Parts: sequence; structure tokens; C-alpha cells
Amino acid sequence: MPLHDGNFLIESLPPDDRAALLEIARPFEFAVGHIFCDHGATVSSLDFLDKGVISAVFAMQDGRGVEAYMVGREGVTHPMALEGGSISAARLVGQIAGSGRRVDVARLSALAAERPAIRDALIAYAGRLLGELEQSTACNALHKAEQRFAKWLLRCHDRTDGDVLRLTQEFLANMLGAQRTTVNEAAQHLQKAGAIRYMRGSIQVKDRDALERASCECYAAHYETLRRARLAASGEPE
Ligand SMILES: [Zn+2]
Repeated sequence: MPLHDGNFLIESLPPDDRAALLEIARPFEFAVGHIFCDHGATVSSLDFLDKGVISAVFAMQDGRGVEAYMVGREGVTHPMALEGGSISAARLVGQIAGSGRRVDVARLSALAAERPAIRDALIAYAGRLLGELEQSTACNALHKAEQRFAKWLLRCHDRTDGDVLRLTQEFLANMLGAQRTTVNEAAQHLQKAGAIRYMRGSIQVKDRDALERASCECYAAHYETLRRARLAASGEPE
């Protein structure tokens, strides 16, 4: 999927609403591992990504975790936090380094009250995110680790410009809610199939078609959501 720079939600706004939003937004950059908002913390800003990926990870008391959803340039963190006082249920952590625009909750709330297009864009995105969460819940319960691994790599690849994803086994295990040995086996299998090249600390996507064949059906649903967001941003008809 060819990607242009910029956040799809912001790009999809009418020009005057977009300009008003950008006026109160502060640019930021982030590294892998950066914590945007911790579990249980009050949400203070909405972060629109231009580049990179944030994972929302739910951690259990025994230290294991699993990714519930990801945010890339199609979205924003905590789209329903406009009323203020929202608590983050997950830890939002930088998964692929990138950049974006940050807007304080109170300022965005005031702006959205004046400009319905901004509020509507956030609500529409929250609806899409809920759909993603439903899909992920079913996927985590029913689909094999290797299928989920392939799906996850494809989704990251859709949100980056290159073919190399910098990821450790431990990080992957935490994303997939799987043991490191399971992740290792799945990676070896995908490498034998020619889909990826697995290196220490990174994965190169070599054959997307092979990766799509190895993924479960859930990838197609996620891709469709992303495609629609991109179309809305570009103003092209569907
Ligand atoms: Zn699935």
C-alpha cells in the first residue's frame, strides 16, 4: 500500500477544520519503547501519528501481555477522551519509531465543540477501532500464533516505509501474548516459507504474498479498514 506522509484523520478533514486543528497541535517524534500513556494514567493529550506505530498493550498481573490494538497514521490515541478525565486502560508504547502531532485534551475538546467535522472524524475512528478490537478478540482466541504473527507483521509493514522491522523476540512475544519459543518457531517457519528473513533484533519482509497466505483471515478485515481511512484522507472515491 503506497503511503503518503501525514495523518489520515487530519488529512480527511475539510481544509479550514484541518488548519484549525494544526494550529493547536505540537509536532513530536518518538522512539521504540516510548510510553505515551501508562495503564491507569489520565489521558492528557490525543496524539495523531504521521509515521510509526503505537501498540496498546494490556498487561496481566503475572507480567504477561498482549497487544489489543495498534495505532498508525490512520489514527489517533484515545479518540474518545474529549470529555476529560479519561483513564487509559492499556499501556500505549512506541513500537515503530515515528512522529506525529499532539493536541491537549481540553483544547481539542473546545475545538471539536465548535467544529463538528473534527468531532465526527474522531467518533468515526473510534467506531473503526472498536471493530478492530472485536476482530482482535476473536483472533486472539481462535487463531494460531503463527497466523497472528504473520497478520501482525503485515499490519506493521502497511504502516512503515521500508521492509525491515526492528523487533526483538521478547517484544514480539508480548505483542502476541505467546511464549518466546512459540514466536521463534513461528518465525523459523515463516523464514523457511521465504516470507521473512529473521535476524537478531529485526525482521525483513521478503515476500508479502507468502506472508498473506500464512496469515489468518483477520488481516483482510484490518486492511480494508486501513484502505478506507487512506481513501478518505486522499479524497479519492471508493
Ligand atoms: Zn485472526
